[in-house]
Amino acid sequence: MTTTPLQDLAKSLHNCQRCKLAKLGRSQVVFGVGNPHASIMFVGEAPGANEDLKGEPFVGAAGKILNDLLQSADLSRDDIYIANVIKCRPPENRDPELDEVEICKPFLLQQIQLIRPKLVCTLGNWATQTLLERKVGITKVKAQAFYMKDFVLFPLLHPAAALHQGGLLDTLKADFKKLKEFLDRNTKPAESASAAPPAVPTLQIDPPHPTQMDLF
Ligand code: URA
Repeated sequence: MTTTPLQDLAKSLHNCQRCKLAKLGRSQVVFGVGNPHASIMFVGEAPGANEDLKGEPFVGAAGKILNDLLQSADLSRDDIYIANVIKCRPPENRDPELDEVEICKPFLLQQIQLIRPKLVCTLGNWATQTLLERKVGITKVKAQAFYMKDFVLFPLLHPAAALHQGGLLDTLKADFKKLKEFLDRNTKPAESASAAPPAVPTLQIDPPHPTQMDLF
């Protein structure tokens, strides 16, 4: 059976030993899940205990919040692709360390290159700073579009923030509303007269206005 380059990449990381997390209690590499042709990708920080057991990103408590937020933006997990910056669970859910991010980041970039999403929503500081390549706080950049070379980056708070600080759930809901508005503004309606395969709305993001705010 032939495999896709994305499947080949996942296979190449199956028993990854490139960083110390391989020996620090992870039970498996959590590569990513979802539609390999998705036009929207979500990127979190690192697998937690549930993700490590199941081998899928965002299947624990933060994942439940993410599912509700996705639904509020008319998105389902079947339409999108979800991955993390680092693919192995750090012990006791500590923050990723710089060497771990440096070693794992190329694989996230390869995933993005192979999936070719038009929009990448980063969840939290780690994913945002890794892909923006700037040490900027999430609260300063969240819920805005950044036009990168190959995709638009849309940073959001990490859903787990709402687990620690209940009030942030309302902020997350408001930011997902902004995401939905951005998607609505940039989605071309299905052409009803077109032939098979059945027409579906397509995300088509125009280049930024020259006046895009300079945040840095
Ligand atoms: N938090 C993350 O950043 N990623 C997961 O997969 C789960 C929780």
